Amino acid sequence: MALQIHILDYGDIELETSFLVLGHECGRVRRVPVYGFLITGGEYPIVVDTGYRDNAIMESLGMRGLQYHDNMIENQLARHGLRVGDIRYVLHTHLHIDHAGKDDKFPMNTTVVINRREMEFSVSGIMFPQYPKPDIKHLIDRIYEPEAMRFLDLDITGAEEIIPGVWCERAGAHTEGSMNVIVETAEGLACICGDVIYDFNDQIVNHVYTNNWMEPRVTGNHSESKRAEKGAIKKLLNNYTFLLPIHDRPAKIERQRVVGRLGMSVPGPMTETVPNRPWFPV
Ligand SMILES: [Zn+2]
Repeated sequence: MALQIHILDYGDIELETSFLVLGHECGRVRRVPVYGFLITGGEYPIVVDTGYRDNAIMESLGMRGLQYHDNMIENQLARHGLRVGDIRYVLHTHLHIDHAGKDDKFPMNTTVVINRREMEFSVSGIMFPQYPKPDIKHLIDRIYEPEAMRFLDLDITGAEEIIPGVWCERAGAHTEGSMNVIVETAEGLACICGDVIYDFNDQIVNHVYTNNWMEPRVTGNHSESKRAEKGAIKKLLNNYTFLLPIHDRPAKIERQRVVGRLGMSVPGPMTETVPNRPWFPV
């Protein structure tokens, strides 16, 4: 059976637009989704990212959380006939407030997989308020349980396989330890790319404030250099057929261009699956 990726809808966030794309529409409020992904059809079910803890915690960044009953991770997994205890691995693109908020719902024999550099970076203080205390303290508890945590050293090892057809690579953008999760699907390689891309339209498709052809715009929230950010985005466009960020609808890529977007009814149930249709042309 081929690997499939299902969207988990953890609710939305309201935030200021220039946080998403540097210098873009400063002061305007935008609402963006927070997704996770469920990978099925392989050796074990895998979840990538777990959303934010609750609506209140988003206030610590001056943002508004819009998480409802239906968005609870238990309810999102139940749509696929799974419970948290059925998940063998939880992978993290990175550990920001909206990506690792529900890890404590998973038992200690579910292994959380993190690039070690990201764990170090989360306690470095460099992007301090985006790594909330309860999430990081829980991850530290996991270090002391035999099966609860697996560290990768992607900067040194290069790609690391988790189950056949699913592997992790250093992202080289957004945070110092961010990683991409690559999934081999029947129709090509899909890359869950965390927050390396926030917004396909404003960063890649519409080159509104850029003079240079094919030049992606950087996000308003990153710890790496702008050159590194641009390079990491170009690398994604060069190498993968499907790109799945956490805060925008998945995109289909051909010859470094966005050629399709996964259709979703928003709000409402999201049953679309990558690589299955429907893909809408751009
Ligand atoms: Zn995020």
